[in-house]
Amino acid sequence: IERQGEWDVNDSLSELAQLAETAGAEVSGSVWQKRSRADAALYIGRGKVQEISLIRQELGVNVIIFDDELSPAQQRNLEQALGVKVIDRSALILDIFAQRAHSHEGKLQVELAQLKYNLPRLGGQGLVLSRLGGGIGTRGPGETKLEVDRRRIRTRISDIEKAIENLKSHRSLHRERRQASEIPTIALVGYTNAGKSSLLNKLTAAEVLAEDKLFATLDPTTRRSKLPGGQEILLTDTVGFIQKLPHQLIAAFRGTLEEVVQADLLLHVIDASHPQFEKQSIAVYQVLKELGADTKPVITVFNKIDKIDNEYVIERMLRRTDSIAVSAVAGTHIDKLLAMIEGSIKATSIDARLIIP
Ligand code: GDP
Repeated sequence: IERQGEWDVNDSLSELAQLAETAGAEVSGSVWQKRSRADAALYIGRGKVQEISLIRQELGVNVIIFDDELSPAQQRNLEQALGVKVIDRSALILDIFAQRAHSHEGKLQVELAQLKYNLPRLGGQGLVLSRLGGGIGTRGPGETKLEVDRRRIRTRISDIEKAIENLKSHRSLHRERRQASEIPTIALVGYTNAGKSSLLNKLTAAEVLAEDKLFATLDPTTRRSKLPGGQEILLTDTVGFIQKLPHQLIAAFRGTLEEVVQADLLLHVIDASHPQFEKQSIAVYQVLKELGADTKPVITVFNKIDKIDNEYVIERMLRRTDSIAVSAVAGTHIDKLLAMIEGSIKATSIDARLIIP
């Protein structure tokens, strides 16, 4: 179903394939259908379901992934009709996050997002029953397994929410201390795989995991560094953004992304060698806007220029005063970027002095 401003189907599907590979799957192929409206029961048409069923048997496929979010009913109906596990983009992204979360808070946030995603998808029937029997006296041996499962999940959700709230207040204490120390904070933002971790490594000589996989960075990493002029700075690497990020995850990572909201300066890292880099940048801006961080000072960093042989393209990127073309891997123009950061921090601190009498 084409919606305005959305990605081209093939681009979105090839990204979905990359996500599936990141999750450890082997991709056999892709199928798509043009429709004006999603089928309420099956998302796609009945004929298409039959076609996919045949392909599935031929190729021995054991999971089918849909690029858009399926309703719990659509997912169930499709599984029944196709006789195979059916998941959607949101579930896939949640799965990758679950594999890659390292910190305590990161793990909690992913679990929370998964529970919220799974709750309406638990079992088939029972929702009506559970609404009727929500009160005292309905608990106990007579309760269905589904009911117990649902109640356990809700309890777990509220426990996790409390735990995250606690961690959050700890974090804001840390941040207040950091702000009191007056060290400017710079957050690296960008589409997944743009090269944020690699750039952080180059800027700070820290060894942060850089991988050619989507979402190698899940938990924010903050490193202390010094600008050429001697000014100390704090650099924070954030989780990568992606189009059609499950909304449960945006909510879950809002806390983590507070680093972005609190930063003095953003470095928007773009993989300039990616054919879809413009659409990727728009997806990043949309998330920044949602976070209320779209008015912050930003330096746009066009990365991976070692992979571009078109001088004209690089020239165009360099023409803007607030952007720079670099190679985090080859180390090209890192010195210039540091000088830009220095200039921008000086400018913002002058602004701050102007506001504070
Ligand atoms: P992140 O997801 O934004 O943190 O991206 P990473 O730093 O993990 O980088 C993703 C992939 O791009 C890795 O394979 C990096 O080696 C590669 N990469 C990053 N910067 C550059 C660059 O300037 N040039 C080239 N050729 N590859 C790069």
